[in-house]
Amino acid sequence: MPGEKLSLYIHIPFCIKKCNYCDFLSFPTGGRNTPLAERYAAALLREAEALRGGSLSEACQVDINQARGQSYQVDINQVGDPSRQVDINKPVKSIYFGGGTPNILSSEWITRILCKLKRLFTIEKDAEISIELNPGVYEEKERHRELEALKEAGINRISIGLQSACAAELKRLGRIHDLTAFLKLYEEALNCGFENINVDLMTGIPLQTCDSFARTLEKVLELRPKHISAYSLIVEEGTPFGEVPLKSLDLPDEDEEYEIYLMTRRVLKQAGYERYEISNYALPGYECAHNLVYWDRGDYLGLGLGAASLIGDLRFSNTGQLQKYLSAPGDARENIHKLTEKEAMEEFMFLGLRKTAGVSRADFKRAFGYDMDEIYGEIIAGEEGAGLMEEDGDMVRLTERGMDAANRVMSKFLL
Ligand code: SF4
Repeated sequence: MPGEKLSLYIHIPFCIKKCNYCDFLSFPTGGRNTPLAERYAAALLREAEALRGGSLSEACQVDINQARGQSYQVDINQVGDPSRQVDINKPVKSIYFGGGTPNILSSEWITRILCKLKRLFTIEKDAEISIELNPGVYEEKERHRELEALKEAGINRISIGLQSACAAELKRLGRIHDLTAFLKLYEEALNCGFENINVDLMTGIPLQTCDSFARTLEKVLELRPKHISAYSLIVEEGTPFGEVPLKSLDLPDEDEEYEIYLMTRRVLKQAGYERYEISNYALPGYECAHNLVYWDRGDYLGLGLGAASLIGDLRFSNTGQLQKYLSAPGDARENIHKLTEKEAMEEFMFLGLRKTAGVSRADFKRAFGYDMDEIYGEIIAGEEGAGLMEEDGDMVRLTERGMDAANRVMSKFLL
C-alpha cells in the first residue's frame, strides 16, 4: 500500500560473466572494479545527487532544494502537473543493492553510495539494508576486508546466490562459483557479524533431480540461514538456454519438478521455515522487508540502469541504455505510467496473493473505496468453491493447492 514510508532499490548491472539462463539487465565485465563499473558507480552518485540538487532534467524535474526533512516533490514528467508529482520525502525503511552482481563494486563504492543516500534521505534506524553477493567474486585475500567494510557501511542483510550445491549443475548454469566458495563467503560473513543472511536457490534446472536438490537443501540447512529463496528456472528467449532445443537442457520432467517443489515445501517447513511468499521462506521474524514492499505495493524508488519505481499510482523506470544513463544519469527516468484504478486493483490482487498471508479486505477498501466483493466477489467465491482460495478474518488468500496453481488463479484477477 502506498504510504508513509519509502524503499530504495539500487541496481548494479554488471557481472563477471553472464550465466546461461540470465535475462536480467547486466553486462559481463570479466573482473571487479573495472573502469566501466566505476564510471557507473560515479553516475549513480550523480543520479542520487540530482534528487537533491534541483533539476533532474526537463522531462523529469525535481524540486528538492530544501534541506533534508523538508518537502521533496519529484515532478516526474511535466513541471507543474500535480498529477505527476510524487512525494519521496518519507522515512526510508529498506535499501536493496541488487543486480547484476553488486559486489563487483568495491566496498568503498558501496559505502560512498550509502553515505550519499544517508545524506539525502532520512533512513530509519532499523532500516533493512541488503546487498546481493555472488560467491565467486571475491579473491581469498579480500573477502574478509570487503565484508567487514560492508558491515561497517551499514549493510545488515546479505543475500548470497548459491543456486545449487551440485558442481555439475552450477557448471551447466554457467555460474562462476562452486560450493566451497559459497561456504567460505558464508563463514566469513558470520565472522564479520552478519546474522541476517538469505541463500538463493534454483529449482527445475538442468541435471537436477529430487535427490540432488535434497542434497542442496541439506547443505544449506546445516548453516541455518535466516531466509531461503527457491525460484524455479524460466527458460527465457535471448539467453544461451533459450537458444538450444529444450530437450538438450536435461531439465527435470514435470513430475520430478513437482516432486522437488513439494519436497522443498515439506523440508523447509520441518526445519522451521515459514513460507511467506510463493518462492520465499524465512525463520520467524526474518521475512525480507524490502521484497514485502513490492508485494504490498508500497512506495519504492529505483536508482541505476533500468531501475523501476512505484510511487503512489505512478510506475516509472530508468532508461535501460547504458551509454544514455552514463552520460545523463540525472535524466534517466522514462516509461512513466499513471496506473488506472483498474490496473492498481489488479496489481493489488495479483501481487498481494503471492504472499501466503494473502490480501486484506480492509486495505482494499481503504485504497479504492470499494468492498473487495463488489469487484472480485464472484471470482473469489468460485476459487473458494474449487478449494484454491480461503478466507481468514479480514484476509483472503490462496490455499496450498491455490499456491500450486498460483499463476492460473491470479490471472483471474485481471479485470
Ligand atoms: S550472476 Fe545473476 S545477474 Fe549475473 S549473469 Fe548470473 S544470474 Fe545474471
